[in-house]
Amino acid sequence: MQTCGADCAKKREELFGFIDGKREEMLAFWKELVNHEGRYDEVENLREVAAFLKKGFEEAGFKCELVETGSEFAPVLTGVLGAERKGAPVLFTGHYDTVFKKGTYGDNPFHIENGRAYGPGVLDMKGGIAISLLCAMALNHVGFDARPIRISYAGDEEGDRTVAPNNTVNLLNESSKGCIFAFNMETGVADGGVCIGRKGAADYVVTVKGVAAHPGNAFAKGRNAIEEMAHKILEIQRLTPEDLSYTVSVDLVEGGVSSNTIPDRCQIRIDTRANTNKDAAHIKESIENICAKTYIEGTSTEVTQEGTFPPYETTDGVMKLYGHLVASAEKYGLAVPSKSHLGGASDASRIDAPVLCSCGVPGSGNHTNSEYADVEGFFERAKLLCAAILEADSFAEA
Ligand SMILES: [Zn+2]
Repeated sequence: MQTCGADCAKKREELFGFIDGKREEMLAFWKELVNHEGRYDEVENLREVAAFLKKGFEEAGFKCELVETGSEFAPVLTGVLGAERKGAPVLFTGHYDTVFKKGTYGDNPFHIENGRAYGPGVLDMKGGIAISLLCAMALNHVGFDARPIRISYAGDEEGDRTVAPNNTVNLLNESSKGCIFAFNMETGVADGGVCIGRKGAADYVVTVKGVAAHPGNAFAKGRNAIEEMAHKILEIQRLTPEDLSYTVSVDLVEGGVSSNTIPDRCQIRIDTRANTNKDAAHIKESIENICAKTYIEGTSTEVTQEGTFPPYETTDGVMKLYGHLVASAEKYGLAVPSKSHLGGASDASRIDAPVLCSCGVPGSGNHTNSEYADVEGFFERAKLLCAAILEADSFAEA
């Protein structure tokens, strides 16, 4: 275990003192950010959130840009602090949209009760964005100038990306290139831990076309689309392995028009989840193979893929970064964060650098009215991430 020598102890004292001293200011910023509401599809509201954030980061010295991704979508807020600095940049990523329609919880919904902060998106993930701002301010205060700090915050993460032109994910990917490491500022794990891997998700839609006929007068002419689909459903359901390392589930079925017509159409939707890109590719190929086989001659089958979030894989780079976070926590005398593998997808999968996810405020209840974030955890997290950034040279050398 590394210890904090005299130089380090002085820096630590300055850093922690600054963060503790910014308590009221940062709680006010977090409150205002939460009260600037915006669901993923409320583009005008989201533009106001983005403008508020841009101003906040610019005041901390960032050069920011609101990058348009299409008229139906909120822009991506990108920024860099110290572009001229020599080292490889550190990146903070995430999203500033929420799942809550503006006004769901009345005016000024942010409030604190018994050490917990409440409000739409307080945890998922406006707290995380506010932490990244506090980190930048604290690093400025201690004279950190070794490497640029970048930010990249999307405004459409909670929506249906299948209809989006995918510019956002390309931008997130682009901003991560050349970075030493990245922190995705999503909801922190309730025990104060971070996330080292997430399942990816992809939906498939399968449509069978048959031939409609009257079952009394022309039974032999009919080609029953539901029967054809039934064969396929059973085969698709058998794709999930016993160890559940990936899952495939037919979750919706529609077909037929009445009980006296042989159905000429049947459609299903399939949810699939995988930990690795290899498994995700295997699932795709298996579904396509099943659908390529015809049981009832005269029917045809089409498969389309929708709503894809690639897996956030637990790579060697991810584990090295987790090790670095643990070492930094120990060196600075902070609580060592646990590591979790989670089922829900995130944009950590878009990042082309070692990345940890769930680096935001610890809490729980995302997407529900009981969503809360731990106020103390907000400041602890800022200290931890600053420590990891101050010690980034030892990550580079390891
Ligand atoms: Zn989120």
